[in-house]
Amino acid sequence: MLSDIEIAKSAKLKDIREIAALIGVPEEKLKLYGNYIAKVDNKYLKELESQGRKNGKLILVTAITPTPAGEGKTTTSIGLSMALNKIGKKSIVTLREPSLGPVFGVKGGAAGGGYSQVLPMEDINLHFTGDIHAVTAAHNLISAMIDSHVNHGNELGIDIRKIYWKRAMDMNDRALRQIVVGLGGSANGYPREDGFLITAASEIMATLCLASDIADLKRRIGEIVVAQSENKGLIRVKDLGAQGAVTALLKDAINPNLVQTIENTPAFVHGGPFANIAHGTNTLIATKLALKLADYVVTEAGFAADLGAEKFLDFVAPTGGLFVDAVVLVASIRALKYHGGVSKEELSKENVEAVITGMENLKVHVENLQKYGVPVVVALNKFESDTAREIDAVVNNSPVPCVLNEAYAKGSQGAIELAKTVVETIEKIPSNYKPLVPMELPVEQKIELIAKEIYRAGKVTYTETARTKLNMLKKNGFGNYPVIVAKTQNSISDDPKKINAPKGYEFTVRDFQISSGAGFVVALAGEIMLMPGLPKVPAAVNIDIDENGEITGLF
Ligand code: ADP
Ligand code: MG
Repeated sequence: MLSDIEIAKSAKLKDIREIAALIGVPEEKLKLYGNYIAKVDNKYLKELESQGRKNGKLILVTAITPTPAGEGKTTTSIGLSMALNKIGKKSIVTLREPSLGPVFGVKGGAAGGGYSQVLPMEDINLHFTGDIHAVTAAHNLISAMIDSHVNHGNELGIDIRKIYWKRAMDMNDRALRQIVVGLGGSANGYPREDGFLITAASEIMATLCLASDIADLKRRIGEIVVAQSENKGLIRVKDLGAQGAVTALLKDAINPNLVQTIENTPAFVHGGPFANIAHGTNTLIATKLALKLADYVVTEAGFAADLGAEKFLDFVAPTGGLFVDAVVLVASIRALKYHGGVSKEELSKENVEAVITGMENLKVHVENLQKYGVPVVVALNKFESDTAREIDAVVNNSPVPCVLNEAYAKGSQGAIELAKTVVETIEKIPSNYKPLVPMELPVEQKIELIAKEIYRAGKVTYTETARTKLNMLKKNGFGNYPVIVAKTQNSISDDPKKINAPKGYEFTVRDFQISSGAGFVVALAGEIMLMPGLPKVPAAVNIDIDENGEITGLF
């Protein structure tokens, strides 16, 4: 099979205005970025809402607990949306924007793969429309204003040992995790410890993805807590008077990016928050706009169902007023075998028994999703090494309809059956979607519910640090805030080594963080890497560009 970029280059793209016309977006609502990328004015959403336009059906794509390479959620989302269009249903896929960290690191880009891609993939995977850089700049403007404020007399009394707001950059660069800034004498301010996080982990990114419009974005940014004061009060962005300028930097980033799939169907690729420290889905504006423009919207939630889907169903959808009609759970035979105890090196050897053992992981995720009242369809993402006996084992042991998906190798043709099954499911089984975790519960009760019902823990404990922080949160009015749990994606538990379906274990909350602009508190259960590093042989060494500007090696 050809490489992703070779396949991408052989595709015939249509003018983006034609794609916009397909979904009825008038040309004056577009801002063109060349021939194949356009931003759609975010205010167009309000217009459609005020016309009383009905929403299409929303399909959430999530996955079983993955192997480190990813299970193919993006590839499946794109393939499913293309296949829906193929069977005559107007569909838009909404995805996150790739971060440069994974593009140059281990995982590669995030524009799908094989014959299931969004294009132009080299633009989407590199600088695209500059949204991520705008978020970086917006983030760092706050950092610069904090240090400048301290330098010029520190009227707010910021405790420079308690500045929570780090700097941000869209790169995997471990050397920047912990640094000292302000060195070089009094002209350069006050020396203090600082650090960088990757832009996808910035609260600005999460906030952009949850905001309903510019005014809401500005209000939320103003609420972001950046530091503690010497008398233990919280310092917010609005105390620095930075919210206006920071939001101004995001004036274009707030507009959804319209692109097309390899089969010329419309796609919104917009916003890219992490699914551990944040909620892990593209902007609400893009999804809401897509719901006004299509009959079926396919959207992907980051990481496995215990992380991405839980956050989407308990927090993102209620925040945006979205109704979820169906969930597609992506599984792969290699991941099932991994949960069945097979080592990474042996994953391409046939092992039906291991597949069946690993189905326990899939069953837990299905059961969890059913607690939300949504119908679930399993999409088995076909890899070359999968054997017929292994595939049968999955299909025959699946508790819900399970369809083999070959979109990676065959494009929409490989996902027709999946599309038909999803449509049939939505038509036959009306969704009774309801969040599992009520918004108004105290933080501890929310965590208890998520840990026991979704992560299958027997008991929740808090470290001393977590208890102290929790008290601080309560004192400051965050006691009933929505909770986003940050934990490993490699297990449904808080321990990456516990594969398959662990239960009855002790789940430990180690610390809390406030994301008051995004509108949640983060409960940290495990070491969460907010600034990844590059591996010994990063993808970057295989990426090249020739004298004609042709790029190779992106995947
Ligand atoms: P996720 O969204 O779950 O992280 P992706 O869809 O991005 O996963 O896929 C992860 C990687 O695996 C990508 O490089 C993609 O091209 C590749 N991939 C996905 N599905 C297949 C498949 N069926 N066969 C081979 N490679 C695949
Ligand atoms: Mg993905």
